[in-house]
Amino acid sequence: MERILNYVNGTLRPALGGGWLAGHEPATGQVFAEIADSDAADVEQAVQAAEHAFPAWNALGRQGRHDALMRVADLVERDLDLFARAESRDNGKPVHLAHEVDIPRAVANLRFFATAILHWGSEAHLMDEVALNYTERQPVGVAGAISPWNLPLYLFTWKIAPALAAGCTVVAKPSEVTPWTAFLLAERCIEAGLPPGVLNILHGTGPKVGAAITAHPRIPALSFTGGTATGARIAATAAPMFKKLSLELGGKNPVLVFADCDFEHMLNVTMRSSFRNQGQICLCGSRILIERPLYERFREAFVARAKALRVGDPALEDTDLGAVVSEAHMEKVLGHIALAKQEGGRVLCGGERVRLDGRLRDGWYLQPTVIEGLDQQCRTNQEEIFGPVVTLQPFDREEEAVAQANATPYGLASVVWTRDGQRMHRVARALKSGIVWVNCWMVRDLRTPFGGMKQSGVGREGGVEALRFFTETKNVCIRL
Ligand code: NAD
Repeated sequence: MERILNYVNGTLRPALGGGWLAGHEPATGQVFAEIADSDAADVEQAVQAAEHAFPAWNALGRQGRHDALMRVADLVERDLDLFARAESRDNGKPVHLAHEVDIPRAVANLRFFATAILHWGSEAHLMDEVALNYTERQPVGVAGAISPWNLPLYLFTWKIAPALAAGCTVVAKPSEVTPWTAFLLAERCIEAGLPPGVLNILHGTGPKVGAAITAHPRIPALSFTGGTATGARIAATAAPMFKKLSLELGGKNPVLVFADCDFEHMLNVTMRSSFRNQGQICLCGSRILIERPLYERFREAFVARAKALRVGDPALEDTDLGAVVSEAHMEKVLGHIALAKQEGGRVLCGGERVRLDGRLRDGWYLQPTVIEGLDQQCRTNQEEIFGPVVTLQPFDREEEAVAQANATPYGLASVVWTRDGQRMHRVARALKSGIVWVNCWMVRDLRTPFGGMKQSGVGREGGVEALRFFTETKNVCIRL
């Protein structure tokens, strides 16, 4: 049995209350780990450690913090295979996916912000002979970070790397559903000689640890990624305390396929944008809108490709879809498929749980599922399902496609497939989402701001936006 310990003030330790949570392996449905079940007392201890570490971490300067973060990144890269297996065991995703995408991206996050801080400047404005103004940015102090289970280390590092680079010390909580890679990261931080208290990682549930981080009066900035309902609770707690908040929340992303697209390329990428990581990426496209002349061809090819996807052992190289993250999540997705049928949807393929053999018999596997015959107002097309389920709907006009794409409370990401250059810009401007991909998906320059519109969140992460978030801005005006 693995033991997932907290990382506080440079040491690995159980929760102060001594409690443990059960950690499940989605591939088998079995318990494989005990996870520290922390609470507000652990948060207080971690905040004190972070406060104590703050002056020295700040005094280390940009170069010193860069060097420390680069050492951690090197150790994660050295142990990439171990991290990829841990992430798959925790989360159910294919090992090869964690190997190719999640862990390299976590390393890239650490390196990106370690180097970004070296090049980050501030502005100065000379008012002729009157005054010199300059803008100073100082780290906010102890930053909070709370992350979800779908891209565990990738999103965890996306928060802690800019916070640490900017000079903050951090109290962070990974999802209790997928804590293992954060624990491995803590071990690498110790090996890299990260000063005690600079990064503190607490394990445990949202209502206990997450809520205590959110409510802590000496954590002035909090970066959160997770569901919209959780984000609303966090905002309600944090707003009266005037905390800085970055909320990266749910999505219900549209894919707009115009008849003039490069069909084969679009089909290959749309398979991925629909079913990668079992559809459990906030950026997956779950509502596919297809221009009517292409609809029949698209439906036939897409359903045939979906049926051919291999649902299987996450450890195998040729597995396309592994297990979904938990039994509760599997039941939630199956509930949404049942709802889609009640709403009049036709299931073109999938729709069922998959039972594998042997030790994987009790694992939580789902068939890739394609549904048609639903309008955009029904619950199936309004609510986030966050599984391997997509709907198809034809459209006749560009304006109609844009209206349908925008017709949910969410606004995280959109994908547009067309070869018409003017339409690319027109549609991208009209779509209400934080990112619009044209003829691609999941391609991102880390320098660009990232985040959702509407109920997909507030604030922007990525590039200098993230460094800004973890700093207070001060303007100094000197009379000449
Ligand atoms: P979740 O909201 O249930 O949990 C996210 C984190 O918040 C976990 O660490 C959890 O323990 C913690 N938490 C739960 N209740 C809390 C509370 N009351 N106070 C403080 N923290 C609390 O989300 P999830 O199920 O882990 O993740 C899936 C969701 O995340 C989906 O909605 C998905 O779209 C979203 N997501 C968004 C992005 C993005 O960039 N916008 C990226 C990935 C995932």
